[in-house]
Amino acid sequence: MFEFVKCFYTVVGALFVIYLLGYSTFLIASVIAGSLDLYKESNKRRYHNEISHDYYVPVSIVVPAYNEEESVPLAARTIGGLLAEADIPYELLFVNDGSRDKTWELITGFAKEDEHFIGISQSRNRGHQNAVLAGLMEAKDKCDITISIDCDGQDDINAMDAMVDAYVNDGCEVVYGVRSKRDTDTFFKRFTAESFYKLLNAMGAEGVYNHADYRLMSARVLHEFANFKEVNLFLRGMVPL
Ligand code: UDP
Ligand code: MG
Repeated sequence: MFEFVKCFYTVVGALFVIYLLGYSTFLIASVIAGSLDLYKESNKRRYHNEISHDYYVPVSIVVPAYNEEESVPLAARTIGGLLAEADIPYELLFVNDGSRDKTWELITGFAKEDEHFIGISQSRNRGHQNAVLAGLMEAKDKCDITISIDCDGQDDINAMDAMVDAYVNDGCEVVYGVRSKRDTDTFFKRFTAESFYKLLNAMGAEGVYNHADYRLMSARVLHEFANFKEVNLFLRGMVPL
């Protein structure tokens, strides 16, 4: 009888050990498979169409554009003109964010005519923050610094000089463009924007007052930033972290 009980417990013990081994192998395999999936997912491009020139430039200007057929030519002319004048090798990277007007046609036209202009296009409208991020991630491997700026001409492009200066002379890897006045905005826009910043600060999120996404970021910072797996992005809240 004693032998039988001993044998029984040995078999149960062995089965338990086999179960534990099997289960932990399964767990480890799922974690590895999950990580591989995540890795593949993060490498997947979020846009489907791109016109790109393969070269290295010190400065990449990232411009998100959603239904901006009126502003794209202006941005190309003013920003392109400024950088050409300053004699800084640059690229102007437009991110078409699923526009329904002629924005993408215009971008591809500029890219064919002039090697300074390149464009990427998201498969659908994904919102300002995702468009900026797509551009920054595209630029980070082929430049030293990026400057993100809106397409609509509301930001003072002349401030880029001071931004680049802060990087070159003071080693600042992130430089925020801050609006000193909002006189091109309607009262409603000013009020909602100011309330938004105040609310954010009250909730403990340290935003930079009156800073949208007009910002210099070094490629070094962007490589670190690429490790964030956050899906619901709020860049101007995350960068100060
Ligand atoms: N934008 C975008 N996707 C959107 C909405 C806007 O890429 O879904 C671009 C837009 O073309 C502009 C920038 O993001 O270059 C800022 O947009 P907007 O001027 O509407 O924002 P605001 O000035 O009100 O912050
Ligand atoms: Mg605007």
